[in-house]
Amino acid sequence: MDVLEQIARKPVSEVTPKPPEVENWRYASGDIAQLWLDCADTGTNVISEAVLRELDTLLDQIKGEQPRALVIRSAKAGGFAAGADIDGFADLRGDNAVQMLEQGHAVLDKLAALPFTTISVVHGNTLGGGLELALACDHRIGLEGVKTGFPEIQLGLHPGLGGTFRLTRLIDPVAAMQMMLTGGSAHDRKARKLGIVDALVPERHVEAAICAAAAGKLDQESGGLRASAMRTRAARSLAATRMRSESEKKAPNQHYPAPYALINLWEDHGGDPKEMQKAEIASFASLLDSATAQNLIRVFFLRRKLKSDGKGDDGIDHVHVIGAGAMGAEIAAWSAMQGKRVTLEDVALEPLGKAVKRAAAIYDKKHLSGVDARDALDRMMPDPDGLGRARADLIIEAAPEKQDIKEKIYASLADVMKPGAILASNTSSLRLTDLIAATPDAGRFAGLHFFNPVSQIPLIEVVSHDQAETRTLDRLAAFAASIDRLPARVTDYPGFVVNRILGPYLMEAMVMLEEGKKKEEIDRAALAFGMPMGPVALADQVGLDICLEVARSLRKNLDRPMAETPDWLEDMVNEGRTGRKSGRGIYDYDKGEDPPNLPDGDPPENIIDRLILPMCDAGVECLRKGVVKDVDALDAAVIFGTGWAPFRGGPMHYAKVRRNVARRLEALASEHGDRFAPDAGWSSFG
Ligand code: NAD
Repeated sequence: MDVLEQIARKPVSEVTPKPPEVENWRYASGDIAQLWLDCADTGTNVISEAVLRELDTLLDQIKGEQPRALVIRSAKAGGFAAGADIDGFADLRGDNAVQMLEQGHAVLDKLAALPFTTISVVHGNTLGGGLELALACDHRIGLEGVKTGFPEIQLGLHPGLGGTFRLTRLIDPVAAMQMMLTGGSAHDRKARKLGIVDALVPERHVEAAICAAAAGKLDQESGGLRASAMRTRAARSLAATRMRSESEKKAPNQHYPAPYALINLWEDHGGDPKEMQKAEIASFASLLDSATAQNLIRVFFLRRKLKSDGKGDDGIDHVHVIGAGAMGAEIAAWSAMQGKRVTLEDVALEPLGKAVKRAAAIYDKKHLSGVDARDALDRMMPDPDGLGRARADLIIEAAPEKQDIKEKIYASLADVMKPGAILASNTSSLRLTDLIAATPDAGRFAGLHFFNPVSQIPLIEVVSHDQAETRTLDRLAAFAASIDRLPARVTDYPGFVVNRILGPYLMEAMVMLEEGKKKEEIDRAALAFGMPMGPVALADQVGLDICLEVARSLRKNLDRPMAETPDWLEDMVNEGRTGRKSGRGIYDYDKGEDPPNLPDGDPPENIIDRLILPMCDAGVECLRKGVVKDVDALDAAVIFGTGWAPFRGGPMHYAKVRRNVARRLEALASEHGDRFAPDAGWSSFG
């Protein structure tokens, strides 16, 4: 019997009347009292101010009833609780934040101090504030598949509802810090091994585990030897130094203050939970005020906004992919992993074989169980004869970037596609407008621009054109969401949004190389700004051939001056030196050369401005031309499509905060050429 069935079968008489103001909990009194978290009007529990306030009231009532034990669990199938209610605290500042945090802590302290045994039964996502609630209980029983973790660091924060001092007391403190610093999660057996849950049981054994816990027969592991060693300040300081240098590699202090605040917190107060609790509240409230947290919280909302653009039913069960190369293979493997039936066609057999191997490697990297990987592979069928064309609800063309090849493929589909099916092109540099004439039905044709590798980059541009039906675009956006990607709705414009904005970044780096600047210097400057990868390294990663193609297309199709690509770049591509995929690009990987992954001191502002401001300028141009709906949609597309320094909130947000970007572009234009001339749209952007 699963968790929900248990609630459904609970006789109504067993459900104790709860105070009228309680909307998010169900309560069943008894020798072993049970509280079910069941947040109103949503499928996912989050720990909101209301949830805690109601819990406070219920705890008073339960305390009076003096049960032998109290069990806290979730009535939602998806998990215990996904975290704190970010909507609720996003606008909190200063003293208000401190006050709200103190109230939340008081409720969990009340739970922790109850004079009878408290047990949380956790399943599915048990994250952030949800895990903090569970940690305030005496015992935690995990259902198989439970996922525990503290993702707060991704929002520029650290746990704020007692997680820092409760987890470091419960388990090996270094492992606890590791979890909080990386935002990594511990899935079922790992959660058990670390001691986050005292028992890991299948659903059918929950009742027995609760009885064992209530009878005091559930052993709890201590944090081990390391826990006692870390009670001394000297030991913590040693460990803290290592943590700081590890964090510096991934999240430099200058841009990401949260890891360092957390390390300080533990180093200073790890020996005294009461002090650590006080310091946690102050530190969390101060981080909440930081630009980094505010920008990362904005990014969280941007993700949600993109997702909601893909609401609704896609009506797509079967996807047929034409072209099993770098992109087609990834698209097919990913779609099959997400539950779609996929047929994959190619003119050659070799790519089909490689695609199956690629799929297996992706499933392995994504930690699919043996059964799940086999099921996904079963759903992905190589189809050299193109039999899937007639059965598919969606055909994705991922053939080479040549107009004539694509047109021939479209023409051959005319009498084959089933009624209502959609045809989408993965083209990155051709204009959809130029392809429409060859398609069987312009209304059911659009762009579906995936990024490489599909399994790592969460964005898909859903590209419209004048004749595309709204229903087609809605279904494609829903399809993107249904395969766990984020749809960005854009119009048919050179480079769409992401490549239009990324193009100048890559092209300017080539100009700088031509001027004699060192590749490492250019890449380090971009890293110092906060980009995930320098432009030279990125060009190698994307493929120099593809970069050239995109640059040519932007130069040809945009009515503004763009940087010239140096001849040596064409020569390299002609020699087959195309980047990482060939072992040699601008960096020579075969010879063990690797791009820098750390910035080095303060980079010259000039390099940063030449790389970054043209991206902002391209953004303003896209907004002026209506390529994307608004500033939020643009920032979201660039962040999720390229990893653009998220803590800066996106290129448009950066431009707003930085101010006077147009004037700086004018100065760059007079120094380096017309390609920097600011777009006309700056006057309305501000
Ligand atoms: P690719 O050269 O790796 O693969 C193309 C595949 O299509 C090859 O396996 C080839 O055998 C096959 N093919 C050729 N003619 C065919 C036909 N008539 N019918 C069926 N299959 C045929 O190319 P790619 O990099 O996967 O790019 C495919 C498309 O995706 C292009 O439009 C490209 O612009 C776009 N795209 C590429 C990237 C990238 O980073 N590679 C990113 C986004 C979009």
